[in-house]
Amino acid sequence: MLHQLTASELSEKLHAKEVSAREVTQAFLDRIATEDQHYNAFLTVDAEYALAQADVAQSQLDSGTAGALTGIPVALKDNMSTTGVRTTCASKILDNYVPPFDATVVTKLKEAGATIVGKTNLDEFAMGTTNENSAYGAVHNPWDTERAPGGSSGGSAVAVSAELSALSLGSDTGGSIRFPASLCGIVGFKPTYGRVSRYGLVAFASSLDQIGPFGKSVEDAALLAHVISGYDNLDSTSLKDSQIQINDLKSGSLKGLKIGIPEELFGDEIDPQVKEVFELSVDQLVKEGAIVKHLSLPSIRYGVTTYYLIAPSEASSNLARFDGVRFGPRIESTGHVESFCATRGQLFGDEVKLRIMVGTYALSAGYYDAYYHRAQQVRGMMTEEFENAYKDLDFIISPTSPIVAPPLGGITDQMALKALDLCTIPANMGGFPSISIPCGLAYDLPVGFQLTGPIMSDERLLQASYAIEQAFGREYRRPPIL
Ligand code: GLN
Repeated sequence: MLHQLTASELSEKLHAKEVSAREVTQAFLDRIATEDQHYNAFLTVDAEYALAQADVAQSQLDSGTAGALTGIPVALKDNMSTTGVRTTCASKILDNYVPPFDATVVTKLKEAGATIVGKTNLDEFAMGTTNENSAYGAVHNPWDTERAPGGSSGGSAVAVSAELSALSLGSDTGGSIRFPASLCGIVGFKPTYGRVSRYGLVAFASSLDQIGPFGKSVEDAALLAHVISGYDNLDSTSLKDSQIQINDLKSGSLKGLKIGIPEELFGDEIDPQVKEVFELSVDQLVKEGAIVKHLSLPSIRYGVTTYYLIAPSEASSNLARFDGVRFGPRIESTGHVESFCATRGQLFGDEVKLRIMVGTYALSAGYYDAYYHRAQQVRGMMTEEFENAYKDLDFIISPTSPIVAPPLGGITDQMALKALDLCTIPANMGGFPSISIPCGLAYDLPVGFQLTGPIMSDERLLQASYAIEQAFGREYRRPPIL
C-alpha cells in the first residue's frame, strides 16, 4: 500500500518508475476522501491543484531533473499562503481568504516537484496546545480518536500519522510542531530561527515563529527541511547561507555524544509513565556510548509565563490587520468603529481575543516595562543559560510533552493547558533547533523524546537524531486502528 511507505521509500519507487506521480498523489487523495471524516485533519483539499502538480513532477521524473521530493505528497498547515487556494488559519475571520501569492516554503516545494495535497486544520491562528481551538472543529488523534492530537499543528501531525499525506509542514512558536508530533508518534522538527523563511506564514509571534517538517522518520523530516530552508530576501530575519545540508545525515554516532537533562524538565509536571519511557530511552543511548549529564537551568521555571507575555504581545500587534477592511468579511454596524468591533468581536474565537487583550495590555504605556520588557529580559537570561550549557554539552534532552494525548475536552483549566508547553518553549525563546522523536508508548499512546541544540546545529541535531532513531531500534510504529 503506497500510503504506508515513508517519503524516502516513495521517492525510490517514483525514481525507479515503479509508480507514477499521479498514482501516488491519487492514492493519498483517495485516502483523505474516505478516512479524514474520522480525523478532521484537512480544511481544504484541492484535487485538481494536487494532480496538476503531480503532472509537473512526472515531467521532472521523466526528464531526469527530479529531486528527493519530486512527486511526494505534502500537506500544509493552513496558515501558509497558497496562491489561489484559501488560507483560513482556522479562523472565521479568514474564512474565504484566497491569497494572491505563495509563501516561500510553498514556492520551494513546487520547484522541488512536491505535490501539495491540501491545507490542514490548526488551532485558530496557531494559538493552542490541543487543536481544540479551531473554528472548524477539533482534530482527532489516530491513536485514539477520542483524544487530542496536540496543537497547534494538529492537522499536519495527523495527516502524516494517519497516512493521509507522506509529509507535512507545521509552524512552531512555542512547541506547535514538536508537541503534536509527540502525541501522534511521528517526528517533528523546528529548525534554527531564520533558517526557513517566514514569508507567507501568517504571523503569530514573529520573533518566535518558525516553519518545520513532520515525517514518519528523521530521514523524511530531514529531506523536507533541506528543501524548505535557505536564505530568503523576502524575510528580514532570514539567515545567510542557511540551507540545511543533509548529505551526512547517516554518518552520525552516539559514541561520546554529550547530552544533558535539566532537572526543571524532569520534575513532578512529567507524568510518571512518560518519565519511565523516557528513562528507558536514555538508558539505550547510554548503552550506545552517549554520556548523560544532569544539570539545572533555573530560568526554565519562568519559561511558560514569559512566553505567555511575549507571544500574545506580538500577536496583538500582528493580528491588528484583521479588521474587516483590509482582510476578512466585514460585519456592518452603525458606524466604522462599531463595524470594526462587530467584525473582530464576532469573527475571532475566544482564545484569540483573550490573547489580543493580554498582549495589548502588556504593551500599553505604563505597563510595557513591567511586563513586555521584563519578559524579554527573562528571555535573554534563559537563552544565555542554554548557551552556557552548550559549552560542554551537545544537546539538551527531555520528554517533549509532560503527558500523552489527553481526551478531547479533557483539560478545562486554561493554566494547566498552557503549562503543558513547559518543555518546548525554551527552544523558541533562544531560536534553537529542536526535534521530537517517538521513543515508546505509555498507556498505549506515543511518547516523544526531545533534543534541542545550539543555534545552527541543525545538521548535527538531525545526524544525532538519525542515530538515536536507530538506537531505539524499531520500525515506524503505526497507529493500531490504521
Ligand atoms: N501552545 C502554544 C500556544 O498556545 C504554542 C503555539 C505554537 O507553537 N504555535 O501558544
